[in-house]
Amino acid sequence: MKHEDPYSGKPLVVVGTVAIDSIRTPFGEREQVFGGSASYFSYAASFFHKVSLVGVVGEDFPPEYRRVLQERTIDLSNLKTVSGKTFAWKGFYEDDMNSAKTLETHLNVLASFDPEISLNHDPEFVFLANVDPVLQLKVLDQLAKPSLRFTACDTMNYWIASKREDLLKVLARVDGFVLNDAEARQLTGEPNLVRAAQIIRGYGPGCVIIKKGEHGVLVNAYNRFFALPAFPLETVFDPTGAGDSFAGGMMGYLSVTGDTSFENLKRAAAYGSVMASFAVEEFGLEKLRKISRADLDERLHLFKQVSHF
Ligand code: AMP
Repeated sequence: MKHEDPYSGKPLVVVGTVAIDSIRTPFGEREQVFGGSASYFSYAASFFHKVSLVGVVGEDFPPEYRRVLQERTIDLSNLKTVSGKTFAWKGFYEDDMNSAKTLETHLNVLASFDPEISLNHDPEFVFLANVDPVLQLKVLDQLAKPSLRFTACDTMNYWIASKREDLLKVLARVDGFVLNDAEARQLTGEPNLVRAAQIIRGYGPGCVIIKKGEHGVLVNAYNRFFALPAFPLETVFDPTGAGDSFAGGMMGYLSVTGDTSFENLKRAAAYGSVMASFAVEEFGLEKLRKISRADLDERLHLFKQVSHF
């Protein structure tokens, strides 16, 4: 470990959405729950390392949601509150719990957000969580310092369809790209994921991490492949946030260890998988709020047993 105290050292910086979600799954329905790519990511990463969140919310954002992040000592000094409504997403899952169907996306305050980031450190690890690629670029411009060691991003079908050129500009500037199988196929037009990963590496990122929901994850990094199954779960209650929790676990582990080698990326992807497996067991952030670092380590141990031969 690079840092004896995981909460010392330079925080991992994330930009993404802080949202109010409405979700329907085969197990139930929830209105106005706390969500967003940066929220799930920060919460998950905070099990490993200090996190600084860059984002925007409207005046309607409930103070209790802010407290959920503060409880984890996530730095919110770059989470701006502006007049207007918070980003809101409404979606549902049917039999295929691997892919969310979007019913409504209301960008609200995100549409005009122009981040001005102030940090009292030069960041080393940065994650551009799922958000408008134009915003991801603005953050990259402000953080493009010699101190940067590993920058990674995420996206989704919404942005691949509407802001493809801007997304390609982001990809040309990051070290890692975390996306799901459907997004990899949509972006490249290539149905085979091994080939899709290679095509995406050609866009820029040296590490491409393709999540396949209940089928695990495929990593193509530094010209090498690595595959992991998903932790076998009997009940997947709400998949929302699984991808962001995976990324938070992975980046949190990478930043606290300060090691971006292929071998450590494997361990980071395993922690990401374990984090995602907890996240889907209850609605929203409910399950992550109940677990500890010891629970993560215990499940990682089990995960090793079921996937080792
Ligand atoms: P995932 O980890 O992929 O399940 O992401 C779930 C989160 O993504 C939800 O909490 C939503 O608020 C958020 N989200 C949905 N649509 C978008 C979008 N177009 N851009 C950024 N975040 C989104």
